[in-house]
Amino acid sequence: MFLLEYDYLKNLLEDSADFKDTQDALAVVIEVANHANDIMKQGDNFQKLMQIQYSLNGHHEIVQPGRIFLKEGTLMKLSRKIMQPRMFFLFNDALLYTTPVQSGMYKLNNMLSLAGMKVRKPTHEAYQNELNIESVQRSFILSASSATERDEWLEAISRSIEEYTKKKITFNPSRSVEEADPEKEDEDSPLGSKAPIWIPDTRVTMCMICTSEFTLTWRRHHCRACGKIICQACSSNKHGLDYMKNQPARVCDLCYKELQKHHNLSLDYLCPPSKNGSPVNHRSPSSALSTVLHSIPSGRKQKKIPAALKEVTANTEDSSMSGYLYRSKGNKKPWKHLWFVIKNKVLYTYAASEDVAALESQPLLGFTVAEVRDENTESKVFHLLHKNTLFYIFKADDTHSNQKWIEAFQEATVL
Ligand SMILES: [Zn+2]
Ligand SMILES: [Zn+2]
Repeated sequence: MFLLEYDYLKNLLEDSADFKDTQDALAVVIEVANHANDIMKQGDNFQKLMQIQYSLNGHHEIVQPGRIFLKEGTLMKLSRKIMQPRMFFLFNDALLYTTPVQSGMYKLNNMLSLAGMKVRKPTHEAYQNELNIESVQRSFILSASSATERDEWLEAISRSIEEYTKKKITFNPSRSVEEADPEKEDEDSPLGSKAPIWIPDTRVTMCMICTSEFTLTWRRHHCRACGKIICQACSSNKHGLDYMKNQPARVCDLCYKELQKHHNLSLDYLCPPSKNGSPVNHRSPSSALSTVLHSIPSGRKQKKIPAALKEVTANTEDSSMSGYLYRSKGNKKPWKHLWFVIKNKVLYTYAASEDVAALESQPLLGFTVAEVRDENTESKVFHLLHKNTLFYIFKADDTHSNQKWIEAFQEATVL
């Protein structure tokens, strides 16, 4: 019947009066066929949801009307210091985030709603297998075992978010498309309205505000509003955050200022200044900050960093090239794994990929670059020379990026 209808339709001329009716009929046929198919699939889907529900420790209502299972798999979650395996289950309305425990069971960490969720590739290609997931309750960096696996998850999650958002608009026509536009929401979502991604500890060696170096005693702290890593002195304030149900949480000084501004604005709105113009007695953000600055704890290791090293941050977006390289001072000298940025023909060297101050900066004009085969490993390296004297030896992870780096260096050595 299906084929018959289709052939009939194909043979009809588009301007025939019959065309519209036949097209409508065909639409019905397709819908009925899909529906029958769906009913068969629903059985499988129900079984799958039950299976997931049984594999979770404790009782959780995974089986829900309308919920469809889409994808499952293990991904590594980047925690502060290490990567840990986590099992993910993707549904058409939520992402289940669990920890594998004994005998094929899972501990439920979070059931993240797809409402307002964002998934994206990291901005730098150095993190090639990674995936950033941002949601109101939790945001994190995940790492797949390959770039292909990463792309499959990226595709599956973003498609589900899209479908879910579309469906919500259909059910609530009052919600305009504009409101659901993720880009737009991003600009509008105020500080503290959703969990930030915590920058992994290994990507920063210094406070991202005051550049004091972290040591065993001068520890890293995370701002709960922006996710940056800062020192104790730059984060001695707590502020209520919406996504944490307004419980006071550690925030960096920059976020504190920003949050206070909004806080005071809403206070002004609630109790406008009196008619005679006398100022309302609010504790201003500046006075709150100054009390903090008086009590900087000891233990801060703050070297005087020249301004030239603070001009460019390791994660700058407008460089000609950036990423990890191995660097050595000469043959048989040890290799160091460092982060490099070439910007405006200057080479900046960083201890880690999110550092806000460089270790060195070196204008490259007048240098020469030569590709050489490493005597010991036979792999390709390149030499940076100044007037025929070896300055540094570099090597990238693979031949392709080696080549890209050589080109970027060469381009920076000439006007
Ligand atoms: Zn600091
Ligand atoms: Zn912050």
